[in-house]
Formats: sequence, structure tokens, C-alpha cells
Amino acid sequence: MKKKTLVLVLALAMVFTFALSSCGGGGSAEKDEEQVLRVVTEATFAPFEFTEDGDDEIKGFDVDMMNAIAEDQGLKIEFINMEFDSLIPALESDQGDIIAAGMNKLAGDRAEKADFGDTYFESDLMLLVKSDSTLTSIDDVTPDMKLASQIGTTGGEYVQTLEKDGKIAQGVVLNQWTDSYMQLQNGDVQGVVVDKPVGEAYLNSHSDIAKFVGEPFGDHEEFAYAVQKGNTELLEKLNTGLAHMKENGTYDELVDKWFS
Ligand code: GLN
Repeated sequence: MKKKTLVLVLALAMVFTFALSSCGGGGSAEKDEEQVLRVVTEATFAPFEFTEDGDDEIKGFDVDMMNAIAEDQGLKIEFINMEFDSLIPALESDQGDIIAAGMNKLAGDRAEKADFGDTYFESDLMLLVKSDSTLTSIDDVTPDMKLASQIGTTGGEYVQTLEKDGKIAQGVVLNQWTDSYMQLQNGDVQGVVVDKPVGEAYLNSHSDIAKFVGEPFGDHEEFAYAVQKGNTELLEKLNTGLAHMKENGTYDELVDKWFS
């Protein structure tokens, strides 16, 4: 009898052990390592993310940063380009896993809808005008003027507030930063409210037709990647990868590559 009991106990122990190991394999941490994680972004925000001359390949600081983090953490990622104000809804509807888009983690209710990681860049807003503009700062704008920025962004919020407060005639919020620059050059708007490092990248190749005026304004921004609410395991991996990048010099190399 004793032998039979021992065999039964051993068999049950094996079944239990197998059950534990298989159900442990379905955790989100395991899932994240197997699947190709969808990094959603808006690729007219050079030098963070942009495409060139009809080529669909997305390049930029955020792309290189996420690829370095993915390599460090054994993650597979792909980039998906969409409008900026679709980014957080993409995470909420499981159409994306990570946002990497120069997104200010401190703005509005964003942190209620997605979980943001450690800060990887800091910025402020600036006013970009045509070279021959007589404006000297954001405080000079008048109620007959129009200012452009991108829909759903802190800049877009800023120009819409100026309009609501009667400080400008219209805050023109557009889907792509490239459209804002176009409207500035066409004279459709008298200025573009844009993140300082992004305006600087534009001026690197357009300093003959545009300039910054005045000092940085608006709320100081902290750019961070974001994951779906509750995906703590993935966020910890991203933060660890970023920390490793900063320790091993990769972060500084990317800053030199994209911002020097
Ligand atoms: N930093 C701004 C924001 O968070 C703009 C981001 C962007 O246009 N990609 O809203």
C-alpha cells in the first residue's frame, strides 16, 4: 500500500510542478519578450523622429534610443507612425505597446491614461517666426495674428489657449509639424509654437527664412516613453535599459549624434 501511495504522491507533485511552470509562462513579462512590441510615434518631430523625402523609414533620437533599450533588454520592437493625438488612444485600445514621441509626461491628464517612464530629455516651448518678422517674443503677439502648432501637443494647447484668451485671432493646430512650417513660410500664420530642440533642428536647415524670438516659455517639459496603464514589467525593462544606456555612454553618443 505504501508503495502505491508514494507513486501517487510523486505523480501529483509532477503534475503540480508542470502546471506551475506552464501557467507562469503566460505572464506579461514573458509575453513582452516573445512578441514584437509596437512603438507608436509621430514622425514629423525631427530630430526625435522623422522620415525623409517620401522614405517610410523612421529615423531619429527616439528611434535609436528605443532600439538601444530593446537590444539591452532582449525586446523586439517595430515602429508605427500615426498622428500625435492618436498615440495615447492607441495604447488605451491595445493598438500600441510603447509611445516614444518626445512626449511630455507632465502634461495634462496623460499620466492618468498611460504609464510614463524615466525622463530621457528636457525641453521648453519657443516661438519660431519668419526671418523678417518684427516680433521679439511670444508676449508681442496681437489679436489679429495666427500662430500654428501641432494638434494634441503642449504647443497646440498653448496656441489654443492664446486664442481662447483673445490674445491671438486663431491657434492653428495641424497634424504635422511640417505643415506648421509650411504655413509660416506661406504667411498663413505669423509664428509657430514648437519645442526648442525641434525648432533648432528646423533652423539648422532654414536659418535663412526663419528664426527664434524671445525666451523659452510654457511649462518645462520632461520627455518620456510610455506603456499601457499597468504594464509595470515592461516599464521597468525600459527604465533599466535607459539607465544602462546612460551608464555605458550610448545615451551621450546619441545626444552628440542628433543634437550637436
Ligand atoms: N513635447 C510636446 C508634447 O509633449 C510635443 C511632442 C510632439 O509633437 N511629438 O506635447
